[in-house]
Amino acid sequence: MIIILKQNAPRAQIDAFCEELRGMGFSINDSQGAETHILGLIGDTKSIAESWVLANPLVETCRRVSEPYKKANRKFHPDDTVVQVGDVKIGGGNFAVMSGPCSVESEAQIVEVARRVQKAGASLLRGGAFKPRTSPYSFQGLRAEGLELMRHARAATGQPIVTELMNTEHLPLFEDVDMIQIGARNMQNFELLKAVGRQKKPVLLKRGLSATLEEFVMSAEYIMAEGNEQVVLCERGIRTFEKSMRNTLDISAVPMLKKMTHLPVIIDPSHAAGLSWMVEPLAKAAVAVGADGLMIEVHDNPAKALSDGAQSLDPDQFDALMAQLRPELEFFGKTLN
Ligand code: PEP
Ligand code: MN
Repeated sequence: MIIILKQNAPRAQIDAFCEELRGMGFSINDSQGAETHILGLIGDTKSIAESWVLANPLVETCRRVSEPYKKANRKFHPDDTVVQVGDVKIGGGNFAVMSGPCSVESEAQIVEVARRVQKAGASLLRGGAFKPRTSPYSFQGLRAEGLELMRHARAATGQPIVTELMNTEHLPLFEDVDMIQIGARNMQNFELLKAVGRQKKPVLLKRGLSATLEEFVMSAEYIMAEGNEQVVLCERGIRTFEKSMRNTLDISAVPMLKKMTHLPVIIDPSHAAGLSWMVEPLAKAAVAVGADGLMIEVHDNPAKALSDGAQSLDPDQFDALMAQLRPELEFFGKTLN
């Protein structure tokens, strides 16, 4: 249930009302926006009568929320959430580009790519250290050493780093990672979601290969329910009957997710198509449809990449892409940061 409070309701009385509601067993999502002050009630609200809520002089109106996601629900929090990673803001008009190789391969590679993508306008450095590969015989990532190389690259450029966590046991290794990525294949690994919900770093949650948008948002809800509300959603293409691309980019997920939730939504055009030449048109579409950012794979030598070379841009191609995106971002009133 959401309770919309009157504009000038006194704070002390609101606090007392919240205490009363907590005493009844509800937890409260308190969202004070520019226009409205909303209390989102989480718990078994069937036991509470609307007439009882409406009788309170602080209350303007109240409504039941039928969706199973509460903390992520835009009805609970009408304003866009801005997720901050280091100095970089994502959401609420702030557009962030996170770029780097699919896999960290060597210090020279990650530092060179970090420098180039930063120069072109990417504010966050991505790079996989623990890699979820379809085949156990494929390169599995440099693992802990890969994380160490990501830290070196951060020291060289100052860019915050984002990298994938596949296992709760590895969490201690991720202590000074700036943003934790939960990959598509782990979107419904609920224990992993709870574990990243219990820590404080922002989380980049990628949509599962065949997850509905409601399932996707419920996975964000798992993280938020544990206390971590710094979640960015990433649409990265879904499985369809189409075979000419690696996945099918669900571009309509962006406006729909923004209607359903208040969380920032970014697009990963690299994994979506699996084709480097398609990154540019899909990235442009992402900006036009209202995404809050992009995740793009860039490799210093895509032909030699140990993973996902076919979809990776080289640094020159990334320069050209960013040059095209800048005027488009300006047109749509987004700030690149
Ligand atoms: C990745 O970002 O390298 C990755 C493995 O992505 P996804 O989980 O979307 O497949
Ligand atoms: Mn990849």
